[in-house]
Amino acid sequence: MAAKLKKCMMLCCTRKPVKEEMTKETCDEAIAALQKLLSEKGELKAAAAAKVRQLTAELAGARRQNAAVKSVSDPVEERIRAGFDHFKKEKYEKDPALYSKLAIGQSPKFLVFACSDSRVCPSHILNFQPGEAFVVRNIANMVPPFDKTKYSGVGATIEYAVLHLKVENILVIGHSCCGGIKGLMSIPSDGTTKSDFIEDWVKIGKNAKARVETECKNLNFEEKCSKLEREAVNISLGNLLSYPFVKEAVVKKTLMVKGAHYDFVKPSFELWDLDSRLSPSITFR
Ligand SMILES: [Zn+2]
Repeated sequence: MAAKLKKCMMLCCTRKPVKEEMTKETCDEAIAALQKLLSEKGELKAAAAAKVRQLTAELAGARRQNAAVKSVSDPVEERIRAGFDHFKKEKYEKDPALYSKLAIGQSPKFLVFACSDSRVCPSHILNFQPGEAFVVRNIANMVPPFDKTKYSGVGATIEYAVLHLKVENILVIGHSCCGGIKGLMSIPSDGTTKSDFIEDWVKIGKNAKARVETECKNLNFEEKCSKLEREAVNISLGNLLSYPFVKEAVVKKTLMVKGAHYDFVKPSFELWDLDSRLSPSITFR
């Protein structure tokens, strides 16, 4: 026991900083050994307790230092911290009334379908503020048809938005240079696919592709893709009506369904109604 105590006290009496001399494990071991001795050797209690306090404080200091060094040297953490700091200063702290209201609940007017593409965030391009838009983002901004098994994730979002949040508008936004649409356009005519998920997903728009192939034979690949970006949105608008609660709300005129195309090169934003034959599309530039 005396040898054990000696070793333990030597470990603890080092004058060098904890972070240089001891790993977390050895320090924890030393503390545990001292605590054991405290219970076995009453006479050592005061000295050992003081040493335990000193060690614990040094260990905590070393951990704080390590955490500080890590946060400075981690660019991902820094980017996230800077982003959140900016949001807090420029948005949250400048409009406390809005955020107090949002703490109670949300009442968005829009359900928006947009592509996952990093260039087409709907909150940026349409300046949606927190609480304004319930958003679904996926490859090529597709709305699949009503299917409880295959597409339950999207179905749950539409059901919640329409029946519980009672959104007044559903907006499906296609966009220029869409990789998902290029993928759909590139699926060979025999329908064979190479990916695990992507091609099966974008095949939701296969009828739009067939239409473009038939009606736009003379266009090159890029031009066909540009047509398909819009036609696929129209397929999604039609698919929305396969959800009984969407159809009912549209018939009752409590819900509007609109298609859109965002061209981020020009930039321009084209908007049209469910039935584009009744009202022509309008373009904002
Ligand atoms: Zn896209």
